[in-house]
Amino acid sequence: MKRFLPMVGIIILSLLCGCGNTDENYSEKELFAMDTYMKLTVYGDNSEAALDLASEKISELEKLFSITIDSSDISRINCSGGGSAEVDNQTSELISRSKQFSERTYGAVDITVYPLVREWGFTTGKYSVLGPEKINGLLKFTGWESISVSGNTVTVPEGFELELGAAAKGYAGEKAADILRDMGISSAILSLGGNIQAVGEKPDGSPWRVAVTNPLSPSEIICTVSVRDKAVVTSGNYQRFFIGEDGRKYCHIIDPKTGFPVDNGLASVTVIGDSGTDCDLLSTALFVMGEDEAVRFIKENSDFDMILITEDGRVVITENIFSDTVFSDIELKNKAEVIK
Ligand code: AMP
Ligand code: MG
Repeated sequence: MKRFLPMVGIIILSLLCGCGNTDENYSEKELFAMDTYMKLTVYGDNSEAALDLASEKISELEKLFSITIDSSDISRINCSGGGSAEVDNQTSELISRSKQFSERTYGAVDITVYPLVREWGFTTGKYSVLGPEKINGLLKFTGWESISVSGNTVTVPEGFELELGAAAKGYAGEKAADILRDMGISSAILSLGGNIQAVGEKPDGSPWRVAVTNPLSPSEIICTVSVRDKAVVTSGNYQRFFIGEDGRKYCHIIDPKTGFPVDNGLASVTVIGDSGTDCDLLSTALFVMGEDEAVRFIKENSDFDMILITEDGRVVITENIFSDTVFSDIELKNKAEVIK
């Protein structure tokens, strides 16, 4: 089976966010964390010290959330055998926020789906197309309602395991941005894989312009959005997938109701909003929901913007960002379906 991890899209995002760096007064750092390449660019007098603190925060969070580090909070929860684990405030906060979004999205995003993610091979690289019996067996050990968070104590039933891949980068971007703002930074752009976190605006006072990858041709950009102090987070079937022996494409986002990789006609969903954590949880959830439900959700939650791209090349975009979005192809803009 073939494995694809297109890095090109990530690189494009990073380049566009870099804004040319005509301002000399900036600090930049590239790192590999949370299984992805990250690039942090911070402007202003205090930029070096602020950047160090922001990248330390990302490393700290990786040590808490990683499923491959035995001492992480998540590994300790997963090994508790139905008992409880004492975790850091940040871990309990992120698990609680994940649960809130599971409830709001009727279980479309669910951090207990990990046994399925692993058995399909997305965390191990040993891909295999699972049969219905195997899937039904694994689904018995999923369900966000069974996670209990009381203060810093997290309890999951025996056999349940958590994984924060749908939310960790958004949370890390949000917390890193908070640190930068506390340090007096008013201009920074953080690229954490498919998650972009903008702090303030560009040093010249114009908005940050963030590129959205064309999911149907990931080496290209489909459009760029203008943002100040927002997160721009994309979930898509081009980011990680394999082609099975049956010739079908299986992507890394699992529908918690069926246990199958999502295959609903969507290619990507980008969510724009104030909180990186919320945008990350929501982009995964909306991708699982599919076009109709995602559009309905966004109409009822106008504090988020969305760009949805279908496998057949249609673009669906919220009205609030439509006029400021620059499309790579004017025809696409003319044909875009605007959500009012
Ligand atoms: P994202 O790229 O933010 O959409 O998150 C996708 C990652 O979260 C996957 O690589 C899995 O590790 C995990 N995941 C897959 N499906 C789900 C789901 N329905 N809910 C929560 N996490 C998921
Ligand atoms: Mg996500």
